[in-house]
This record gives sequence, structure tokens and C-alpha cells, in this order.
Amino acid sequence: MGQNNEDEEGIVLKGNVTFTNWSRTFTCFPLRSFYPASRSQVKRIIEIARSSNRKIRVVGGGLSPSDLVCSQDYLVYTDRLDKILEVDHEKFLIKVQAGIKISTLNTELEKLGLSISNLASVSSQSLAGAVGSCTHGTGIKFGAISTQITEVVFIDGLGNRRVVSDKVLQTGILSKESDLYLAVLCHLGCLGIIVEMTLKVEPFFNLEIRQYPASLSELVDNFEDLLGKCDHLRLWWHPHVSSESSTKDTLVWSASRTTDKEVAPKFSWFWDRFVRVNLFEFLLFCGRYFPVIIPAINKAYFKWFALASKREVKKSYEGFNFDCLFSQHVSEWAIPLDKTKEALLLLADLLNNQSPSRSQKISAHFPIEIRFVAKDDILLSPAQGQNICYIGIIMYRPYDFNVEYKEYWNSFEEIMMSLGGRPHWAKAHSLTPKQLASLYPKMNRFLEIRYEMDPKGMFVNDYIQRHLLSDCNT
Ligand SMILES: Cc1cc2nc3c(=O)[nH]c(=O)nc-3n(C[C@H](O)[C@H](O)[C@H](O)COP(=O)(O)OP(=O)(O)OC[C@H]3O[C@@H](n4cnc5c(N)ncnc54)[C@H](O)[C@@H]3O)c2cc1C
Repeated sequence: MGQNNEDEEGIVLKGNVTFTNWSRTFTCFPLRSFYPASRSQVKRIIEIARSSNRKIRVVGGGLSPSDLVCSQDYLVYTDRLDKILEVDHEKFLIKVQAGIKISTLNTELEKLGLSISNLASVSSQSLAGAVGSCTHGTGIKFGAISTQITEVVFIDGLGNRRVVSDKVLQTGILSKESDLYLAVLCHLGCLGIIVEMTLKVEPFFNLEIRQYPASLSELVDNFEDLLGKCDHLRLWWHPHVSSESSTKDTLVWSASRTTDKEVAPKFSWFWDRFVRVNLFEFLLFCGRYFPVIIPAINKAYFKWFALASKREVKKSYEGFNFDCLFSQHVSEWAIPLDKTKEALLLLADLLNNQSPSRSQKISAHFPIEIRFVAKDDILLSPAQGQNICYIGIIMYRPYDFNVEYKEYWNSFEEIMMSLGGRPHWAKAHSLTPKQLASLYPKMNRFLEIRYEMDPKGMFVNDYIQRHLLSDCNT
């Protein structure tokens, strides 16, 4: 850790602080790291960067499994921008500083009798960071978290304070202001530093969760029925598990709001800690050297943790979140909802019928996660203009050791691209600005806004350059 300093305006700054993301897959060594605690300090940091011709990136929770956050110049940590500013119980609105962690919000909201409507698999993101990459949960009637944001206050690259809100959408006429609001809701950290946000919430709820095993081969034909029968549906497909004796290979997780009291699952140290975490990490580590055992690992996990049906009632956020186990490589793409069956069949074909000519057999880790998100109008949202199905693949990194994943990733990307898929912005992918522009009809508008907010390219890092700008002027 670098040495702690404060400048004359009380801004905490450090030198030599290495940034590493949650998965420990991307690292950078910024010249200086800043820890502002107020809007005026954020403004001052932008002035310092402008006068010294330095670039800035912002860290929320540092979860993004890519170099989205990375900077060689200045990195701004938002952990101290973590206050709840206003609560409007009548309109169900909560105004917060943008660095607040969603996990903090969950528990503070519970005390106020409120809940966030839908959450990702974990809540350690900051609110601004989650909005930055259009973080999503699941539920075909529910949009990404960004769709719950009604107002954003940010400081742009010229040091101007900007306020954008959903009020600009109320006329139904698209304007410069509405475009800016819809750009900020998936900002990729390149429009400025977000300091405050207002979030629409709902009365606190419990979730009734039902889990049961099923066959992917049957689910591809009836998932739309399931989608209509619950608020939130998630499928965890365990590759290489289906066999002639049993085709069950997928855990169905469905959840709906309930007024029932919590039915807490019993924690077993042996099964939930020793087997699920310690033993499986060790087995995955062995699978790194002997990939031939990976199907057996997936089968064991499915048998021990997915074969029994269960019903639980949990607090909203405890129901949405779960333990993502180990450091991991992850790739996730959104495809139009009506392409779900085709995508899953192509993926099953890739994993089940591997050509002998393939240089290396793909041994995929469990689970392949399948989730659903409602369409929206956010300029760079993967759900812009279409209901979508997200398909996410992972390869764990047991004890932080790398595992072979590139061949699997390339084949997965090919399938997703062939179906008009859009990659999750936070998760590493290989698309060029030209390819992305062909997937996002409003990409040009986003780029114009980016230029207007940050003409000097202060918030452009390698990720933004590689995926959005390429050879254009920054
Ligand atoms: C274990 C795990 C589980 C996950 N589960 C899901 C999931 O279920 N669904 C899903 O969609 N994603 C998921 N993700 C991805 C994660 O939600 C996104 O990467 C999200 O953007 C991370 O939020 P963060 O606060 O950590 O942001 P960071 O990764 O720190 O930053 C994300 C972007 O926002 C920018 N940023 C952050 N704060 C500000 C600010 N105040 N002003 C301007 N720019 C800012 C950063 O510069 C960067 O561009 C998961 C990731 C992990 C590691």
C-alpha cells in the first residue's frame, strides 16, 4: 500500500497503490490514487488531472472482470462517497452518494422497510459501478439496475456539474437531455465522475425460492412458460452431466415475492463449507492438470448440490445473491430472447459433440448461467430495444491459478456473434468498435455525447480505446 497523504483541501491521495480486480485477472499501477469524500473534492481531482494533463478512471467495487477500470495515471476510489442523502417514502425514492455499496444499501433499506427490486448475483458493487456496465439480475419483467435510476449527478471532464433525470423522458419526445440521461445509465466510466444517484425502490419483500433439477433438452422448449410463472428465473446448466441414464443437468431457480416468513436453510459446515468450497477448489485444481476429470467434478457437484428440490423463503437480497465460489474467468453475452433455444442447442452441440480434429477438448466448468432481462432504451444497454437472455460461462481459477479457457471462449463468442449477441460490458470480450457499432444503433450518439462530456479524453483508458474508439480521436 502506498503512503497516505492529504492535499491542502483534505483530499486523501496515495502513490504506488496497485489495483487488482475481484477475480485477480487484471492489475494496473496508477501513478496516484485519490479517495474523495465529497462532490467538491471530486471536482478538485478533475481540475488537478486537467492541469497536469493526466487521465482518470474511477473504481467502484473493482468487480469488473476486465480492464474496464484500469488506469496508468490517476485512479479515483469512491468508497468514501457512501452516504444515504435523502429518502422519499411516498415516491419510494432514495438519493445516495454514488460510491455506496449495494450491500450497504440492502441492509440500510431493510431498516427503512424498502428493497431494491432486482439484484445481481452479488451486492459488493458500488451503485455507480453497477450502473456503469448495465449490471443485471434476472426476471423478464425487470430491467437492469440502471432502469431503476431516476436521477444522476456527475462532474464531466470539463469540471461541470451535470444533473440528468428521468423527467426528460416524460414528454415522450427524445431530446439532447434525454439522450444524455440514457447515455449515463450505461456510462462505462467515460462520461465523468458520478457523485450522486437516485434509485427507485419498492416496499421490503421476501422471496419464495423454488429449486429443482431438470433437463436442459426439455427446458429449451418450455422456459417461456416458466418465465411467465415467476418474477425471477435463473437456470444453472451443468455441462457434461447429462447421460443416457439421466438427462437431468440443469438447476432451475425461480423466485417470486411472498408475504410468507423466512424459512432459513440449515448451514452445514461439512457440506456447505468443506465439500462445496474446500473440496471442490481442490478438485478443480486437480482438473487443471487432468481436464479429463472435469465432467466427473461437474457430476459430483450436480448430484450433491442440485439434485434435491427445495423451497426456501429469504429476504429479497439474500435470495438474489449467492456465493460465486472462486476467482474465475467469465464471459457473458446477451442474445435476443427468441434466440435462446438456438443458442443453447449450439452450445450443447459444441460441448457434447467435440470434433476429434479440435486441438484441445473443451472441458467446461459448472455452471453455465442463463438469465432473462427486460428491454430498455439505454443507449448502450445490451437490452436496448429487445428482451434478452444472458448466457454466462465461467472457468474457475482454483487457488488463483490460471486454467485453459481461450478455446472455449472463442467458440462461445462465435456462437453468440452468429446470433446477434451483445457482450456484457464489464466482462472481457474481443469485439472491435466497428463490430459493436453494428450491434448498437445508438452507438454514434453515445460517442458524440462522450466527446461533448470529455473532449480531451481524460476518461479514456485502453478498454475504451480498444472497444469504442480504436483509431478515432479521443
Ligand atoms: C463475483 C461477481 C459476480 C457478478 N455478478 C454479476 C451479475 O449477476 N450480473 C451482472 O450484470 N454483472 C455481474 N458482475 C459484474 C459486475 O456487476 C460489474 O462488473 C459491475 O460493473 C461492478 O461494479 P463495481 O462497483 O465493482 O464497478 P467497477 O468494476 O469498479 O467499475 C465499473 C465501471 O464503472 C466505472 N465507475 C465506477 N464508479 C464510478 C463513478 N462513481 N463514476 C464514474 N464511473 C464509475 C468504472 O470506471 C468502470 O468503468 C459480477 C462480477 C463479479 C466479480
